[in-house]
Amino acid sequence: MKHLPALLLAKKRDGAELSDEEVHDLVSGVVDGSLTDAQLGALLMAGLLRGGTAAETANWTRAMRDSGFVHDLSSVPGAKVDKHSTGGVGDKVSLVLAPLAAVCGVRVPMISGRGLGHTGGTVDKLESIPGFRMDLSRDEFVAAIERRGVAMAAATAEIAPADRRMYSVRDVTGTVESVSWITASILSKKLAEGIDALVLDVKCGRGAFMKDLARARELAETIVATAELCGCKTRARLTQMDTPLGVAIGNALEVVESVECLRGDGPPDLRELVLLLAADMLVLGGVVDEHGAASEIAAAALDDGRALACFAEVVEAQGGDPRVTDDPWVVLARAPFVVDVLADRSGWVRDVDPYGLAIVALCLGAGRQRSGEAIDPSVGLEAVGRVGDEVSTGDVVARVHARTAADAERAREGTAACVVIGAERPESRPLLLGSVGFDVPSP
Ligand code: URA
Repeated sequence: MKHLPALLLAKKRDGAELSDEEVHDLVSGVVDGSLTDAQLGALLMAGLLRGGTAAETANWTRAMRDSGFVHDLSSVPGAKVDKHSTGGVGDKVSLVLAPLAAVCGVRVPMISGRGLGHTGGTVDKLESIPGFRMDLSRDEFVAAIERRGVAMAAATAEIAPADRRMYSVRDVTGTVESVSWITASILSKKLAEGIDALVLDVKCGRGAFMKDLARARELAETIVATAELCGCKTRARLTQMDTPLGVAIGNALEVVESVECLRGDGPPDLRELVLLLAADMLVLGGVVDEHGAASEIAAAALDDGRALACFAEVVEAQGGDPRVTDDPWVVLARAPFVVDVLADRSGWVRDVDPYGLAIVALCLGAGRQRSGEAIDPSVGLEAVGRVGDEVSTGDVVARVHARTAADAERAREGTAACVVIGAERPESRPLLLGSVGFDVPSP
C-alpha cells in the first residue's frame, strides 16, 4: 500500500472524502490481506457512521468491481441489461424475467446469489432442478448470452473478491446496514457482469431488509446515482414486501410457480411485477420506446409460450431436465408430508406475514441457519389465502410441505399464526410504492 492505512482510516473517521487513489489502495489491501481484519472493521464502521459522497461511493464500487474478473460483453450485439432485487419472500421474479426479457430483445447476463438471511436466492431455486449447473465458466457464460440471449449463473470467487471479504467482516461488525456499503457491494458484482443497464427492484416492508419507505428510497436513489456515475444506466422501482410475492415459498415450489407464470398463468401479483420489470428492461435497453407497448410485448411472450420455451432451452443447456417446463413434478423433489392449514373462522384474510412465513420455511429446511448448510429443495409453504380473499371456516389458507410429520405439525402452527382472518375486508395494497430515475411521475 502506498498510503499508511492508519492515516486513511483516521481520514475516514474524521468525515473527509477519500480520493480515488486512496480507495484503490485500501481495496488492494483488502484483497492482498495487507489490511488486517481490525483495520477493515474500523474502516467499515467509519464508513457506516460517516457515510460517503456519491463520488466516493462510485470510487469504492469501481475499485471493488475491478478487484476481480470483469466480463467484457462488447462483442455481443444488443443491449446487455440485468435486474437486481434487494431480496424478499417468495421473490422468484428472476426465473421468469431473464428468459422473458431475452426473447423480447435484450441480452441478459444474470449472475445471482444464494439465499441471504430469511430471503431466498435464485441460485438455490434453480439448483432445485436436478442437474442444473450455475457454475458456468467465463466462456460458457458468454456463449450462452450469444446463443440464447441469456445466461443464469452463480457468482464465483473471481467476481468482486474485495466485496466477499468486506461482506464477511461487515456481517460480524454491525456494519451491514450502511447505504454506501450496500450500494458498493451490490453494484460491484452487478457491474462485473459487463452490463449496459440495470433495473433495480428495491423491496420495502416486513419481508424485506428495508422496512420503511424512506430508507428504501434512500437506498434506491444512492444506487441509481452511483451506477450512473459508473456509466451504467440504472432505474429503480420500490415494491411492496408486506406480503409474500405470489403463493409459493421454498425452492422447488417456487420453480413450479415460475413455470406457471411462464405459461401465462400463476399469481397476478407475480405477473404484474414481472411485466413491470420486463418493460423497464426493454425501455432501458432501447428495444421499445414506450413503457405500455413494452409491457404488451412482454405479456404476449408469456402468453404465447416463447418465454417458457427459452427457459426450457436454458435449463437443458445448463444440464437440467427440460421436462420441468412440461410437468415440473416429474422432475422436482416432492416433500413427503403435505399438510393443509385451515381457516378457523369465516371472514377476510387481512394479513399474511412474509417474515414469519420465511422463518417457518427456513426451519423446515428451505433456507440456511448457518452459512454453507445444505438446504432441502422440496420443503416450503404455499400461502394460498391472499390478503383480501374472503374465506369460510375450514377453507385451506395455506399448505405446508415438510420432511417429517413432526416438522409439518410445527410448521402448521407457525403458519396459522401468520395468516390473520378478520371480520372486515382489508384495503387493497398496491405493489408499486415508488420509482427512482423514471421520467413518469412515481406514485
Ligand atoms: N446484497 C449484497 O450483495 N450486498 C449487501 O451489502 C446487501 C445485500
